[in-house]
Amino acid sequence: MSEAVRLPAALAQAMRALADAARPAEACGLLVGERWRVVALAPSSNLAEAPDRFEIDTAMHLALQRRLRGSGRAVIGVWHSHPEGPAEPSVHDMAGAWDQALVWLITGSDGTRAWAPGAGGFREVVLDAA
Ligand SMILES: [Zn+2]
Repeated sequence: MSEAVRLPAALAQAMRALADAARPAEACGLLVGERWRVVALAPSSNLAEAPDRFEIDTAMHLALQRRLRGSGRAVIGVWHSHPEGPAEPSVHDMAGAWDQALVWLITGSDGTRAWAPGAGGFREVVLDAA
């Protein structure tokens, strides 16, 4: 995956608002689109309700995948916020990168950044917010 991730400015703003609203916990959600163009954000409850980790609602994830079937769109990534730190993957994120086909967007103190999980850890990807 070498191409940039494209994120509409309105979604970047929505991420900032959700991140602020979830404080002191992390906010999280799934990214819907076509590789790697994000067209929608599906916010999730953070089942971990923690300031340093997140857990996406599996029932929401499955329902979303059912809804997307046949639409040409798919879950292409995961989004969450870092209430206290930069938008860089944490040790919890390293452990939770369960699917290397997904792109990760993290909103932190330095804005929203994109990451691709791989065998050697996360690699930063260009985020084209337009
Ligand atoms: Zn994180």
